[in-house]
Amino acid sequence: MTTLIMQCKNCLRVFSSGINIGSGATVTLVGNTSQCPFCGSFENIPDGTFRGTVEGIVQVLEQSENPLKRAGELLDALERVKSQEDLKRIKSSPKWSAFKKWLPDSPEKIAAYIAIIYTIVQLLTKEPKMSIQYNIFIEQYNQVVNIKNGK
Ligand SMILES: [Zn+2]
Repeated sequence: MTTLIMQCKNCLRVFSSGINIGSGATVTLVGNTSQCPFCGSFENIPDGTFRGTVEGIVQVLEQSENPLKRAGELLDALERVKSQEDLKRIKSSPKWSAFKKWLPDSPEKIAAYIAIIYTIVQLLTKEPKMSIQYNIFIEQYNQVVNIKNGK
């Protein structure tokens, strides 16, 4: 069983949300938060279904001419988001309209999306032509979150 790993925005430590996101699992995460066991801070998890979000983003990328380049650009755009206005600008830009449905509504949630896109970039860097399966994504995602925290 694979659980969704999260990074606490407050103390930056990584913890398991206790939410099963293993292959085959469909979890709806609307309005959910998970509490950091280290500092007690409540962390947002992505809206919608984690799996649905991942597969939705992957699908849009796979339809583009150069998925790796596109994913890299999206990652870059998301990493620059500092405010609600920045996020609104991305969501209303024609450049990113295909991703609109899969992007968060508030900047507080952006860290989880950056981790998702970063994972996709890593997978595509290894194998640009690969079709990303959810179970492969999850293995890499959990590594990414751990690596980012220096473990
Ligand atoms: Zn914490």
